[in-house]
Amino acid sequence: MAGWAATSAFDRMWAALEPIGREPSTGGYRRFAWTRTDHDLREWFAGECAARGLDLVVDRAGNQWAWWGDPDATPGRAVVIGSHLDSVPDGGAFDGPLGVVSALATVDALRAAGVVPRRPLAVVNFVDEEGARFGVACAGSRIVTGALAAERALGLTDTDGVTMAEAWRAAGRDPELLGPDPETLRRVGCFVELHVEQGRALALPPDGEGGGAEAGPVERAVAVGTDIWPHGRWRIDVPGEANHAGTTRLDDRRDAVLGLAAVVQSARAHARRHGCVATVGKLAVEPGGVNAIASRATAWLDARGADEGAVRATVEQVRDEAAASWGATTREESWTPTTAFDPALVERLGRALPHAPRLGTGAGHDAGILASHGIPSAMLFVRNPTGVSHSPAEWAGPDDCHHGVMALTTVVTDLLDATTPGVDAPPGVGS
Ligand SMILES: [Zn+2]
Repeated sequence: MAGWAATSAFDRMWAALEPIGREPSTGGYRRFAWTRTDHDLREWFAGECAARGLDLVVDRAGNQWAWWGDPDATPGRAVVIGSHLDSVPDGGAFDGPLGVVSALATVDALRAAGVVPRRPLAVVNFVDEEGARFGVACAGSRIVTGALAAERALGLTDTDGVTMAEAWRAAGRDPELLGPDPETLRRVGCFVELHVEQGRALALPPDGEGGGAEAGPVERAVAVGTDIWPHGRWRIDVPGEANHAGTTRLDDRRDAVLGLAAVVQSARAHARRHGCVATVGKLAVEPGGVNAIASRATAWLDARGADEGAVRATVEQVRDEAAASWGATTREESWTPTTAFDPALVERLGRALPHAPRLGTGAGHDAGILASHGIPSAMLFVRNPTGVSHSPAEWAGPDDCHHGVMALTTVVTDLLDATTPGVDAPPGVGS
């Protein structure tokens, strides 16, 4: 369905995007919200939309929506595809842009195939998905849905102390206008976000098929996303007793860092046993002197997994062991339960792509924010043979990218003729 025109358009767009925001010293991307680079990316997006005759509308959060067809003629029935163009510091080329470029190429493929949409179609570029500058991930989708209050968003600061309100002004936007935008969301019937896969789930052979090549068969080039894993963050404080590193006998010490090391090991062991992932990526040690035994050590634990109970059990065992052996206290800082994508939409994608595996993800996405707001949402994942993401090593092969465009085109062709209940009648959109 996608055909030569769409894949060559994909390649041309990809080549045009490649230099924007690339840091020569690392080869990674620094595409942060409301910067000059972001402006260039938004202009590039606007240009591609204009070249296709799509009507560009910017919502009250700054997200760009490019419409094919009148979205207000049939409110609540539009099919929306797209992703984001920003990156983490020294991020890869694919996280975000793959979904935007594939969505634009899908428009070309639909037109080349003579598809006449019975619903409006939009390509969306969500702003500030990574939260790299102001610290809140999915800021564009959180603001437009009201999950992030305007007042709080405007007061967020970057590392130079610049507020989002100031960044908006510098970008020529009026911060007074920033806020939820139910008028825009009321148009949306469903959202499908294509995204690079962020682990090696599609590069590895399916369970029970030992061995196999690095990048398996074509059937595993694209997966249908089912849900976003439950995840949380916990702060674990291990007490100790400050003392001299030279004069205190080993037997006389109460070293908080020893307890912290045990916590890190225990998190790994319990996560493995329960089939989850657990990470300690941030530590603090007091007083923090080379020649001082630590009086306190703090670890921040990030735990996620397909099963809520398994994640909870992992953290409870880490907490109980740390308390019993080291007198540590554990405090939950955040918890997000499973975000399930719309079951009817997932089924529909699965029927359109019968060979595509189904996959949950441990990463957050705008599709998850929209799903939580009650907008039927789902995702497609394109194989990433390196399994690396948020790094210049992030990768998807050209053939797999083209398969992604084909898969998205197949799915959208089906959705544009949609009559299936559940996709036809989104609950409470924009309310
Ligand atoms: Zn992303």
